[in-house]
Amino acid sequence: MQTFTHSTSPIRVLFGRGRVREASDELGRLGVRRALVLTTPEQRDAGEGLAARIGSLAVGVFPGAAMHTPVTVTAEAMAVMESLGADGVVALGGGSTTGLGKAIAARTGVPQLVIPTTYAGSEVTPILGETDAGVKSTRRGPEILPETVIYDADLTDTLPVSLSCTSGLNAMAHAVEGSYAQDGSPIYTLMAVDALAALREALPVIAKDATDKDARDRALYGAWLCGTVLGGVGMSIHHKLCHTLGGALDLPHAQTHAVLLPHTIAYVEEAVPEVLAPAKTVFGPRTGAALYDFAATLGVPQRLADLGVGEADLDRLAELATANPYWSPRPLEIGGIRALLHRAWAGDRPE
Ligand code: NAD
Repeated sequence: MQTFTHSTSPIRVLFGRGRVREASDELGRLGVRRALVLTTPEQRDAGEGLAARIGSLAVGVFPGAAMHTPVTVTAEAMAVMESLGADGVVALGGGSTTGLGKAIAARTGVPQLVIPTTYAGSEVTPILGETDAGVKSTRRGPEILPETVIYDADLTDTLPVSLSCTSGLNAMAHAVEGSYAQDGSPIYTLMAVDALAALREALPVIAKDATDKDARDRALYGAWLCGTVLGGVGMSIHHKLCHTLGGALDLPHAQTHAVLLPHTIAYVEEAVPEVLAPAKTVFGPRTGAALYDFAATLGVPQRLADLGVGEADLDRLAELATANPYWSPRPLEIGGIRALLHRAWAGDRPE
């Protein structure tokens, strides 16, 4: 048995269809009397509906959350918090909305209730990535971690198939990387394997029928575990590359993860296949290739070129990705990373 240190985050999780009805009870438990509901512009109606359901404990809706948590949006939301005398936030949405709730909590200390509607996993991590003048920086801290999460799959039934699949692959990336983390533990590895199995089973069903309730439940369960792994251990080469590409070219988050995952895992697998032993119990002996085939069955984008990345960008991206030393089971070496990026750009199946 290897030596390990295991730590967990204190967080209350309610899981199950219909449990959004318990939102006002949960706010009461947190001592919140005047909650501001946060959403993206696209989910404004859902936010209004939730505020009506919460009743007198909700004082308004701020429907301005945006990808990568721009500090300008946070400032706007803080002004609304102040004008309404809000003492807590309810984030209803994906990672963008959760990010806004975290940014407000980090500045004010107000409690957060998060009701996730994608599979991104941010709701159970103490991690906040914010963008200021186009530069994204990430930090961790106990003040960032939400207090309570309600996973109600009824709210994921509307997630479009394409985003369901890319968001699910984004979640799987947390689990695969968590299973070979330098600071990993047997409990996080168990979670990672169970999460991969759940999403591997659920996503192909959702790709065919977005309304399949069992598959939606399984996917959300898997996403919770993946997020918990992300919050508990350090990520590595895959998240580093996604962060570099996303930041440099403002790429869509979940799609970038979906395209890169088979290639980053194949890069690790080529040099140190043994670190992928947990993932191989779900994906078999050629994990990178199996992830590529799995993504193909889901019909998600499989080429960086599909996301607008130009071949001429690849040299700069390889340099950026290898500029700061970053732990990885296979170190990031510029020639290998450039080749990896080219395969991902062209959409070649890993060997
Ligand atoms: P998102 O939150 O930006 O959502 C994408 C779009 O889908 C939005 O328009 C949203 O309104 C819509 N949407 C979400 N749920 C829906 C539903 N059920 N029905 C219909 N439409 C729905 O996308 P995301 O991939 O969840 O989050 C990406 C962001 O989260 C990035 O900024 C990323 O950096 C961050 N993130 C942070 C962490 C962390 O731990 N800090 C983890 C994962 C992601």
